[in-house]
Amino acid sequence: MSPAGADRPGEAGRFSDTCYEGVGKIKSGLEPWDIVAAASNGIKIADGTTETMTISQAYGDPISGRAAQAVFNRDHAAYLRQHGLADFRVKDRFAVDSGVHAYTPVGGGVIYISAGLLQTSRADRNQAFLMHEILHNEWGLDDSDVLDALYGKGARDKRPPADITEWFRKNCVSGKGNS
Ligand SMILES: [Zn+2]
Repeated sequence: MSPAGADRPGEAGRFSDTCYEGVGKIKSGLEPWDIVAAASNGIKIADGTTETMTISQAYGDPISGRAAQAVFNRDHAAYLRQHGLADFRVKDRFAVDSGVHAYTPVGGGVIYISAGLLQTSRADRNQAFLMHEILHNEWGLDDSDVLDALYGKGARDKRPPADITEWFRKNCVSGKGNS
């Protein structure tokens, strides 16, 4: 059992039991504090809509970076031809899909956001959003798997990724037992 809801010495704030339970379902042994620790480990936020770095350059690991680059290049071959590009870039990720709010290449240390789409005025939502995106950067977790873990099997087909952020906001940031 995790020390549910308990204060951790030397750390400010605490998380609710629901937060502990959900985070443990996302990844066995994972605790909310692990996500906070990753956040303070120098992860940056940048505007992805202007970033001309290629996908493989944005990844922390060259092997997974090249693999991701190959998938994007294949899936968007027509777009690349149309724009005279050899490789799909971070900014193209936002250009091809206006619904993408954020893109976090695994291990790259940067969370790319669509600056115009985020509600930056709401601190609780931003904090929840950060916890969600860190799951991608730090542990390479997929939205589909996280949705199923938090909302039950099959949630991946019914809920948008934004519901992950909403879950963190309700259960780990602003809800009862969180401070
Ligand atoms: Zn996500």
